[in-house]
Amino acid sequence: MTQINAHYLKLQGSYLFSTIGKKVAAYKEAHPSQKVISLGIGDVSQPLVPAVVKALRAAVDEMGNADTFRGYGPEQGYSFLREAIAKADYQARNIAIDKDEIFISDGAKSDVANFQELFSSQVKVALQDPVYPVYLDTNVMAGRTGVFQEGRFTNLIYLSCTEENNFMPQIPAEHADIIYLCSPNNPTGAALNREQLTSWVKYAQANESIILYDSAYEAYITQPKIPHSIYEIAGAEKVAVEFRSFSKTAGFTGTRCAYTVVPRGVQVKDEQGSTHSLRDLWLRRQTTKFNGVPYIVQRGAEAVYSEKGQAQIRAVILQYMQNAHIILEALKTAGIRAFGGENAPYIWLKTPGGLKSWDFFEILLENAQVVGTPGVGFGQCGEGYFRLTAFNTPQLTQEAAARITQLKF
Ligand SMILES: *Cc1c(COP(=O)(O)O)cnc(C)c1O
Repeated sequence: MTQINAHYLKLQGSYLFSTIGKKVAAYKEAHPSQKVISLGIGDVSQPLVPAVVKALRAAVDEMGNADTFRGYGPEQGYSFLREAIAKADYQARNIAIDKDEIFISDGAKSDVANFQELFSSQVKVALQDPVYPVYLDTNVMAGRTGVFQEGRFTNLIYLSCTEENNFMPQIPAEHADIIYLCSPNNPTGAALNREQLTSWVKYAQANESIILYDSAYEAYITQPKIPHSIYEIAGAEKVAVEFRSFSKTAGFTGTRCAYTVVPRGVQVKDEQGSTHSLRDLWLRRQTTKFNGVPYIVQRGAEAVYSEKGQAQIRAVILQYMQNAHIILEALKTAGIRAFGGENAPYIWLKTPGGLKSWDFFEILLENAQVVGTPGVGFGQCGEGYFRLTAFNTPQLTQEAAARITQLKF
């Protein structure tokens, strides 16, 4: 029989959301009259904004007309979208990123998952705990980790993010070749400030390492001390790759469009010590394995940058952030310590009375009919924590908050 990639067998079961689904379904069946509200999943609830819908419709018409029909597009993405991104997200912030350093894709998840294949299987990886599972699992699949022992993989650097360090990844004592940073963070909602991000860029310069910077929640930043891009930090253009997405910014979770920035200045070396451009390697990878994002979708993404599009998406994001404040206030009233929710649509709470994450899940479901995500599902450091999201509608968020306020511990 054909042999498999044995590293897949090291993967820990990703039962988190299916276990939650089963428990919620069982509860609903036993309590059919109870209305369960989910503050669990990291998916948006509001529809695409009118400016985007209009652009999508116009692009559909173009595709149905022989004169304006388009077949395969450029693998790196259409120039019109890459230019709009370079101008609005970088040049407007005095960051010298140009359109040829931007790669359009169908998702930040796939890009951040695929990017590691450019590096040797020997490189040492550092990632946060709790963590967005994609960074971990893709490196397990690629064979960069050892075995799973006592809740963690060997041969991996875990950056523990705890209440003691304000859920901020600390610079490790040892050398890492690749560092995954997610800011604003899923699941903790914590965001690195300028000073903290500068220390990571300095570490990467000193160690000749590369930072893979996931800023899928950049649009949720409210505080001026939080950089919107890692390239706001001098020198980052030589050590960092940035992942961004229209998913949470503009409700594209089902429409699919994202982008990755690989500046020309980022260099990697081969076994002989000769240097290569990481941007050129990623271009080679994309042209070989990817055929681009639909023209229609890229026109929709372009409309996010129009004046109307910006005003409309800002209003939706503001609404989500108001939800976040409603949840934070309710937790405060209930006497529960909570974090995040300022620069991210996630609230990370400390379970009261030292409850385990899953025990708190049960209590919240039984007593408030509210669903959230047990923190331990994101890593060892998440035990005793719990994630709530601000992505539900204002009405249901308010109702969930009112129920949380009534909780007694
Ligand atoms: C939602 C999310 C993304 C976005 O993924 P897409 O594939 O673009 O939808 C990326 N990173 C993190 C941490 C996320 O939570």
